Amino acid sequence: MKSKEQIEKTYKKVSCPKRNCKNIKKDGLRKIEHRGKIQRYRCRECNLRFVLDEGFYRTRNHEKKITLCMDLYYKRVSFRKLQEHLQAFYPKNAHYSTIYRWIIR
Ligand SMILES: [Zn+2]
Repeated sequence: MKSKEQIEKTYKKVSCPKRNCKNIKKDGLRKIEHRGKIQRYRCRECNLRFVLDEGFYRTRNHEKKITLCMDLYYKRVSFRKLQEHLQAFYPKNAHYSTIYRWIIR
Protein backbone atom coordinates (compact mmCIF):
# COMPACT_ATOMS: atom_id res chain seq x y z
CA MET A 1 0.00 0.00 0.00
CA LYS A 2 1.39 3.34 -1.04
CA SER A 3 1.64 6.09 1.49
CA LYS A 4 0.14 9.48 0.81
CA GLU A 5 3.63 10.86 0.33
CA GLN A 6 4.49 8.29 -2.31
CA ILE A 7 1.31 9.03 -4.17
CA GLU A 8 2.01 12.74 -4.11
CA LYS A 9 5.50 12.11 -5.42
CA THR A 10 3.98 10.21 -8.32
CA TYR A 11 1.73 13.14 -9.07
CA LYS A 12 4.64 15.53 -9.07
CA LYS A 13 6.35 13.44 -11.72
CA VAL A 14 3.32 13.71 -13.96
CA SER A 15 4.07 14.53 -17.54
CA CYS A 16 1.74 14.96 -20.44
CA PRO A 17 1.10 11.69 -22.30
CA LYS A 18 1.14 13.41 -25.67
CA ARG A 19 4.56 15.00 -25.84
CA ASN A 20 5.86 14.32 -22.39
CA CYS A 21 5.63 17.98 -21.39
CA LYS A 22 6.42 18.73 -17.78
CA ASN A 23 4.33 21.82 -17.36
CA ILE A 24 1.28 20.18 -15.83
CA LYS A 25 -1.33 21.62 -13.56
CA LYS A 26 -4.06 19.93 -11.62
CA ASP A 27 -7.40 20.35 -13.24
CA GLY A 28 -9.98 19.35 -10.69
CA LEU A 29 -11.29 15.99 -9.66
CA ARG A 30 -13.33 13.60 -11.66
CA LYS A 31 -15.81 11.38 -9.92
CA ILE A 32 -15.92 7.83 -11.07
CA GLU A 33 -18.43 5.30 -9.95
CA HIS A 34 -17.13 2.69 -7.51
CA ARG A 35 -13.74 4.33 -7.48
CA GLY A 36 -14.24 7.66 -5.85
CA LYS A 37 -12.50 10.75 -7.05
CA ILE A 38 -9.50 10.80 -9.30
CA GLN A 39 -7.21 13.66 -10.13
CA ARG A 40 -7.44 15.22 -13.53
CA TYR A 41 -4.59 17.16 -15.12
CA ARG A 42 -4.12 19.68 -17.83
CA CYS A 43 -0.98 20.26 -19.81
CA ARG A 44 -0.09 23.94 -19.99
CA GLU A 45 1.91 23.47 -23.17
CA CYS A 46 -0.42 21.55 -25.46
CA ASN A 47 -3.57 22.01 -23.40
CA LEU A 48 -4.28 18.30 -23.22
CA ARG A 49 -6.52 17.10 -20.43
CA PHE A 50 -5.80 13.71 -18.98
CA VAL A 51 -5.99 11.43 -15.98
CA LEU A 52 -3.33 9.06 -14.80
CA ASP A 53 -5.22 7.14 -12.22
CA GLU A 54 -6.39 4.32 -14.45
CA GLY A 55 -3.04 2.63 -14.16
CA PHE A 56 -2.78 3.38 -10.52
CA TYR A 57 -6.08 1.76 -9.74
CA ARG A 58 -5.31 -1.21 -11.90
CA THR A 59 -2.00 -1.73 -10.18
CA ARG A 60 -3.60 -1.53 -6.80
CA ASN A 61 -6.20 -4.08 -7.79
CA HIS A 62 -3.47 -6.28 -9.17
CA GLU A 63 -1.45 -6.07 -5.97
CA LYS A 64 -4.50 -7.01 -3.99
CA LYS A 65 -5.02 -10.09 -6.13
CA ILE A 66 -1.44 -11.19 -5.81
CA THR A 67 -1.50 -10.74 -2.06
CA LEU A 68 -4.66 -12.78 -1.88
CA CYS A 69 -3.15 -15.57 -3.95
CA MET A 70 0.06 -15.65 -1.98
CA ASP A 71 -1.94 -15.83 1.17
CA LEU A 72 -4.03 -18.74 0.00
CA TYR A 73 -1.01 -20.47 -1.47
CA TYR A 74 0.86 -20.41 1.80
CA LYS A 75 -2.19 -21.78 3.54
CA ARG A 76 -1.69 -24.73 1.22
CA VAL A 77 -4.78 -24.14 -0.79
CA SER A 78 -4.43 -25.99 -4.08
CA PHE A 79 -3.99 -24.06 -7.30
CA ARG A 80 -7.32 -25.36 -8.47
CA LYS A 81 -9.09 -24.05 -5.39
CA LEU A 82 -7.13 -20.88 -5.64
CA GLN A 83 -8.24 -20.32 -9.17
CA GLU A 84 -11.84 -21.03 -8.30
CA HIS A 85 -11.63 -18.53 -5.51
CA LEU A 86 -10.03 -15.93 -7.71
CA GLN A 87 -12.56 -16.41 -10.44
CA ALA A 88 -15.34 -15.80 -8.00
CA PHE A 89 -13.85 -12.42 -7.14
CA TYR A 90 -12.28 -11.44 -10.43
CA PRO A 91 -14.07 -13.37 -13.16
CA LYS A 92 -12.42 -11.43 -15.97
CA ASN A 93 -8.77 -12.13 -15.56
CA ALA A 94 -8.04 -15.04 -13.33
CA HIS A 95 -6.16 -17.75 -15.06
CA TYR A 96 -4.23 -20.64 -13.66
CA SER A 97 -1.01 -19.78 -15.43
CA THR A 98 -1.22 -16.14 -14.40
CA ILE A 99 -1.58 -17.03 -10.77
CA TYR A 100 1.19 -19.54 -11.08
CA ARG A 101 3.50 -16.90 -12.52
CA TRP A 102 2.79 -14.50 -9.67
CA ILE A 103 3.63 -17.03 -7.05
CA ILE A 104 6.63 -18.62 -8.67
CA ARG A 105 8.27 -15.35 -9.59
ZN1 LIG B 1 1.61 18.52 -23.37
